[in-house]
Amino acid sequence: MSEPAKRTFSDPPADVLVRVEAVTKIFSSRAGDTVAVDNVSIDVRTGETVGIVGESGSGKSTLARLIMGLQPVTSGRVTFAGQELTALTGKEQRALRGKMQMVFQNPYGSLLPHYTAVGNVAEPLRLHNRGTRESRRAKALELLELVGVNPRFADLSPRQFSGGQQQRIAIARALALEPELLVCDEPTSSLDVSIQAQILTLLEDLRGQLGLSCVFISHNLAVVERLADRVAVMRTGKIVEEGPTEQLFGDPQDDYTKDLLAAVLPVRAGT
Ligand code: ADP
Ligand code: MG
Repeated sequence: MSEPAKRTFSDPPADVLVRVEAVTKIFSSRAGDTVAVDNVSIDVRTGETVGIVGESGSGKSTLARLIMGLQPVTSGRVTFAGQELTALTGKEQRALRGKMQMVFQNPYGSLLPHYTAVGNVAEPLRLHNRGTRESRRAKALELLELVGVNPRFADLSPRQFSGGQQQRIAIARALALEPELLVCDEPTSSLDVSIQAQILTLLEDLRGQLGLSCVFISHNLAVVERLADRVAVMRTGKIVEEGPTEQLFGDPQDDYTKDLLAAVLPVRAGT
């Protein structure tokens, strides 16, 4: 593949925490190229929650990983707090890694099975050489309490908890390094409906309490409508429409957004 023409990027304003500019991600294999993310630009302002919706395979998770710097972009630029992710040294990247954390669809898979609940929450602190063994445990217990896990159960292993409780532990672990950005990729999709609402309420509360900026990814429009200040609709790697949540849901412009909304209307009316 030929390199796209060099382009210059603007410096983001101070209130922009994450800036995604003209980002493309192509996966190449013998079967051919997959353009997973196709020339996407989007900002996340400090304290804002940006929702990303779209059908399976539309590029949501890939975009999340690019924002987190977990995969290199094929072209374009991602900046976090004004620093370009790809231009960082290993040490700078490590420091930045603590400031952005992810919450995944499958909480059990994101926890260390051989560690206790409190051990899982303390682990990022240990990796980043924060505090002493005792202070890390104390902080991890506080975090468990914050997310609604009874510290009495702190020394149980992850598999001894329900899915909802596991997701709470995973959220506590994501908060351990006091991130500025939380990227939630379908955080309730694997949970029972009754538990989903509880986890959403928890995320809403934490976001307010901690002043977090969020990227909130879901194929479930009702979930995104509830949490997001602004929403981007993805389809085949592209953002087809973006706007303030009320405006996008109330007066969608793009045909695909209209179809998505029409498909969930019976559900929304029924709840
Ligand atoms: P979503 O999260 O919206 O379901 P993904 O970002 O997971 O979408 O996937 C977008 C497209 O990129 C899909 O066609 C998927 O098969 C492809 N893709 C994702 N990750 C990889 C990878 N590591 N290697 C090859 N193709 C990938
Ligand atoms: Mg996904």
